[in-house]
Amino acid sequence: MKFNHLLPRWEQKHKCPDGSEHYYLPTSHIEATLKHVAVRFRCKKCGRITAAFLNEPTYYTNKKIIDKYIGEVE
Ligand SMILES: [Zn+2]
Repeated sequence: MKFNHLLPRWEQKHKCPDGSEHYYLPTSHIEATLKHVAVRFRCKKCGRITAAFLNEPTYYTNKKIIDKYIGEVE
């Protein structure tokens, strides 16, 4: 499962060096503020790192699956 839909729109338009779509997976939590949780994502195809600030409802909706992937990576 890729997580591209959680990333900012401009980030979704960015492509891998070979022109295909990035395949972003969460790698770690960066920080949490009162209203947002920052999560770091890495493309499993090209290794590109990016981050997304998820608002609370989005984060908690996806928390289980995000935590599962982070647990597998680290
Ligand atoms: Zn990529």
